[in-house]
Order: sequence, then C-alpha cells, then structure tokens
Amino acid sequence: MNTKQRCDNCGEELGANPVQRGERVYCCEACAFEAQRSADCGGRPDSTTAPSVVEQPEK
Ligand SMILES: [Zn+2]
Repeated sequence: MNTKQRCDNCGEELGANPVQRGERVYCCEACAFEAQRSADCGGRPDSTTAPSVVEQPEK
C-alpha cells in the first residue's frame, strides 16, 4: 500500500505542512476547515448515496 498520507478532504497528497485535526489530516487549513464544516452539517459526499429510510407497509 502507499504509505503517503492523503488529505482527508480533497484526497491530494499531503505537502510539507500537513494540518492535523484529531485522527484526520489535511493538506491545508482550508481543507481542514471545509471538512469540519461539512461534517457538522452532515454533508459528506459519500453519504449522499445512502438509501433514504422509507416506511414499508406491512406484508
Ligand atoms: Zn486538501
């Protein structure tokens, strides 16, 4: 596996000054800010494909 770490927000390889936020690491302050903001409002891109909960009629 590639040992290089990648930004948790944009996926770019980390540069010389990675920004650490808890367990996550980002390529720049902007990404750290964006990631935290989107996490707060639940707007993660990988969660948009999750099926919505629909009430099923009893069979
Ligand atoms: Zn980034």
